[in-house]
Amino acid sequence: MADRVLLEAQRVERAICRVRWGAAALSLLLGPLFPNLSPALVYVLGLWVVLYNLATLVAVGRTRTRKGLAGVARASFAGDILSLAAAMFLFSADPLWTTYLLGPLVITTGAFRFGTTGTSAAAVVLGSAYMLTAFYRDRAFGFPFVPERILFTLSVYGLTALLVDRVMRDARQLRAEREGLITRLERRVAEDAALAVATRVVATVAAPDEVIPRVLHAIRTVLRFDRATVFVADEERGEYRVLHRLAADDDLVLPPQAPLGRGLVAAALDEDRPILVPNVLEDARYEPREGERARSVILVPLRVGGRPIAVFTLSRALPDEFTPEDLRLSGAVAGLVAQTLENQRLFAEASEAQALRELDRLKDEFLAAVSHELRTPLTVVAGALELLGRQGHTLTEQARTLVGQAERHAQRLTRSVGELLEVAQLQEAKVQLDREFVPCDALLGEVTAAHEALADARRQRLEVRSTAPPLYVDRRRMLQVLGNLVSNAIRYSPEGGTIRITAALRDVQVELEVRDEGPGIPPEEREHVFDKFVRLRRDRDVPGGTGLGLAIAKTLVELHGGTIGVRDAGAGACFVVTIPHEPVPAEAHAIG
Ligand code: ADP
Repeated sequence: MADRVLLEAQRVERAICRVRWGAAALSLLLGPLFPNLSPALVYVLGLWVVLYNLATLVAVGRTRTRKGLAGVARASFAGDILSLAAAMFLFSADPLWTTYLLGPLVITTGAFRFGTTGTSAAAVVLGSAYMLTAFYRDRAFGFPFVPERILFTLSVYGLTALLVDRVMRDARQLRAEREGLITRLERRVAEDAALAVATRVVATVAAPDEVIPRVLHAIRTVLRFDRATVFVADEERGEYRVLHRLAADDDLVLPPQAPLGRGLVAAALDEDRPILVPNVLEDARYEPREGERARSVILVPLRVGGRPIAVFTLSRALPDEFTPEDLRLSGAVAGLVAQTLENQRLFAEASEAQALRELDRLKDEFLAAVSHELRTPLTVVAGALELLGRQGHTLTEQARTLVGQAERHAQRLTRSVGELLEVAQLQEAKVQLDREFVPCDALLGEVTAAHEALADARRQRLEVRSTAPPLYVDRRRMLQVLGNLVSNAIRYSPEGGTIRITAALRDVQVELEVRDEGPGIPPEEREHVFDKFVRLRRDRDVPGGTGLGLAIAKTLVELHGGTIGVRDAGAGACFVVTIPHEPVPAEAHAIG
């Protein structure tokens, strides 16, 4: 940019030098032909012009700075004005005296090189020289001093100065606009190139930790910063932690964190928009930090997982260094950084989910293997105990009690192992439903009949009411689901209570409800009570439970396309199963 301006100024100076050669030639070749002039003085003038023109050319070629060139131009311009003034004086003996005609030429070059100052200086000096010389001619050679003629020439000088100055001013403005445009264009091209590199880095670099440092490197060619940092809000530790930092001043050791909720980082997150701070020391939101050198700062909040939780900052040691253009570009870069963080987050989540799934699978495999291994010896033990029980009369009283206890425990163990196997099978989707239309009251009747003895033992009443049409279900599996709910109601509600089992059609669903008068399921545990191996805290010591019954029931209900849940029923637990209602086809009716 600076070079371009310097080159252009050098071109102008060289063009003026060429004109000056012309002027020297005029003086050397034509000067002696003029009458009444001293040839020696004319040669001296011509040689002087040649010499200082040569000196100017050499100086222009050697100057490497704009300031130096401006000095050379000023000196040579002063030379031009003085030379013309001298020429006017030297040629004054000529009766037709025409050297003043060169005045507008010098005034014009003044406008080219120094604007209004140049034109006015040339116009004033040359106008005065012209007037003095005219006066001198009158006195020395008797050429009459004609005021109108003098006034006319001075007006030509003045008009030339005004006109050229006006034209040059427009030209300068145009040039400034052109320069600005070129500068902005160059910047845009550089920005595009840097962003293209950064985008490629985000898309292609596999190592997650390398992406952000490389993106920052890529944009450093355009966004000249001393330090770029990515802060992330760490709620647990109550601080903004530095996730990445790229610093020019490596010797500067800043603390890698800042207190949460304070300072400019907090302001950017609160406002959820980019902020440009011209000077941190003049910003009330700034929290001074030991060793901090940054003055100009840009902060852009980053949205990760839909929330602004990180901030991208750029800083420079001097105030007022960043422009709104820098802020705009920082926004684009921040988008890439946020994208990278988001990718990393999703990747971590996916890996975690996969690890959990793998763990779950291993657990199920392990359970299936263990229960298989347990089942065979358990069958043998249960068989042996049953045999022993049948021969009770041959045993002592103590042995009979022990056999009875062992039998009860073996039954409980058999049930638990059965549930474990069932869960494993459901997990592997090995269960096939064998659906048929089952009258609802028959289904509920079967469930209550199977649990009558258990309820009697706890002096509980089983109350059944059904207004629902037949269900299109796997009979055995539905009995298993309802059986689990009823046996839970019996086990977990107090003795002497009532357990109500109802079925009714609601819209396109049949709703089956098992309600008891026990302690119920606390709202905060309802979500998890259907998970595998979950038992309520208060029931962990109640023997005979595995925490699998409801998980199995849920899977079976969902296999039927239905839902299972717990309803708020005031006192007691209220489990609700819904099964999609299927109208019974006409022929099934006929058979039924
Ligand atoms: P298990 O009965 O083998 O423990 P379940 O999956 O059938 O396993 O039940 C999970 C837990 O839910 C039980 O341990 C118990 O704490 C609670 N629960 C289930 N049904 C009821 C109920 N009707 N009333 C109160 N708590 C219940």
